[in-house]
Amino acid sequence: MQELYFLLLLLASSGNSILIVILLKRTVNSPILSTFVVLLLLINFWSIPQLLLITYEFNENLFIAIDKISAIGYVFIPVAMSLFALAYTGSLTTAKSLAYILGVYTPSIIFLYFAWNTNLIESRNYSEIIKTTWGNAVPTGSLFPIMVIWFELISFYSIFIIWQMSKKTFDGLRKKQSILLIIAIAIPIIFGTITNGILPALHISVFPVAIPLTTITAMITTYAIYKYGLFELSTLNVISSIGNGVVIINTQRKIVLINDVARDLLGLRNEKVYEKTFEDVLTLKSATYNSTAKHGKNSISYVLTTGKHIKAHDFFMKSKFRKTFSAECTISPMLQNGNVIGVTIIFRDNSHEKAVEKSKNEFISIASHELKTPLTSVIAFSQLLEKDIIKKGDQQNLYIIHSINEQLGKMKVLIEDLLNVSRIENGMFTLSKKEHSLESLVQKTVKDMQYGIDTHKLVIVGGTKRKLNFDIDRIYQVLVNLISNAVKYSPHAKHVYIFIEESEKEVIIRVKDSGIGIAKKDQEKIFERFYRSNKFHQKSMVGFGLGLYICAEIIRNHKGRLWVESKQNKGSDFFFSLPYSGD
Ligand code: ADP
Repeated sequence: MQELYFLLLLLASSGNSILIVILLKRTVNSPILSTFVVLLLLINFWSIPQLLLITYEFNENLFIAIDKISAIGYVFIPVAMSLFALAYTGSLTTAKSLAYILGVYTPSIIFLYFAWNTNLIESRNYSEIIKTTWGNAVPTGSLFPIMVIWFELISFYSIFIIWQMSKKTFDGLRKKQSILLIIAIAIPIIFGTITNGILPALHISVFPVAIPLTTITAMITTYAIYKYGLFELSTLNVISSIGNGVVIINTQRKIVLINDVARDLLGLRNEKVYEKTFEDVLTLKSATYNSTAKHGKNSISYVLTTGKHIKAHDFFMKSKFRKTFSAECTISPMLQNGNVIGVTIIFRDNSHEKAVEKSKNEFISIASHELKTPLTSVIAFSQLLEKDIIKKGDQQNLYIIHSINEQLGKMKVLIEDLLNVSRIENGMFTLSKKEHSLESLVQKTVKDMQYGIDTHKLVIVGGTKRKLNFDIDRIYQVLVNLISNAVKYSPHAKHVYIFIEESEKEVIIRVKDSGIGIAKKDQEKIFERFYRSNKFHQKSMVGFGLGLYICAEIIRNHKGRLWVESKQNKGSDFFFSLPYSGD
């Protein structure tokens, strides 16, 4: 019997030591592994003295020294165990709470004090040592049962917090890990308490199994750490910790992963969603007819079949358990060897921003409407006045009234732009398309504009005999915008060229100036609302930064393209195309 116990203790101590060495280099930056290694170390503090105790005859002093080391082990094992459980469940901050200090740290230090200085925990008298069939055993004192109870409470507390976490987590792998840990803690605790705690307290000596069992479970856990990367930062941990909703589906559209934020946003906290299809759980819709989320309901199919990303801020999401909410959403393909094997949907609720934006749009809409009505009559009266002044030949006042009318014209354009933006935002921007000659429209626009421009000559190059289907007023608006920008942003130039070219599928209009140009970084942004590049020019040139945004919207609704090629200080070429088959 003694040989068996010796062998078990020897195996346990050396096994634990090997584990400590193996794990030590992985502990950096991992509180979970660090606490686990400390736990193993303390088990050794406890088991090696036991090993020595059964093998050697000691003198009193050496016995006390060895017993002190052993006390460090068994007194701090529950502390390390609970710290490990807290680290594993991500609640290490609890270790700083008053309750924890009073319930865990303080008793451990008190027990250590008694173990070192009194016979209340274990006898420190070597002559009292009991010879058993497996070796030497130390008689226990009156405080020993209390320490065992405390040990039990802490162990069950540790098991309890891991169990709580396993109940909450939706991550299947983590659930399995937690169950493994609970078993790993419970087995040595239950059997060890009986053989090393309760029975010795009743002065019944049985074969003590605590140390061998602890070592076996520590070995299983270490194997799991190595084999399954247990406790390491797994992809699943990372996805769970992302602050946005994440849903991953496979090619059969079944949900394979959903993080807690997604569950919260969709009201799916307690629903079983794995193995259900995406459509069973939620609906994706695009917001307005001109939405950037243009694929709407078919977004998932689009990404699955094309392998392309979709990113949009104007999706509507709805689950069976939560009302429709507005969401910003990125739908990306998951690729393996070039094949789409699934889709990741990352989203966040942007209802608040949308509400703010809506009230801003409402304000713009109301303000521009209210301004337009009085302005229209002011313009009408002032034109009457101009006619009257011309009739009277009053040269001095003619100049004044002419300037007034010019400024009123600019104001009208700005207000029209604001009105158009609110129409676009509210999905009220409609087109009335008919067959027209684009060349004739360009000629008319240039003629109208040249009338009011004496700084530049507008030159048309090329032409097209084709008739295209478009909204004549809107395309006129685009031409006016591009040409007036070309004039406005090339103050030192003499010409602006308007090219009309035919390509295979579309007619392309190019408005070319040799003005200030646009920096590369601004070229994408100038088509956004209210964006104006070059702060210096902003001051001297009137504008809201809305013209190109409206043009882009008009061209997009004609299924055409609008783009720019530009070099700073050299000039800009603005292109737009209208397809032959525009319906
Ligand atoms: P606005 O002219 O009212 O500022 P736009 O939307 O028409 O608004 O243009 C946005 C910005 O793009 C302008 O502020 C200007 O910085 C830049 N831009 C537009 N057209 C030209 C051009 N032809 N040359 C240089 N910059 C231009």
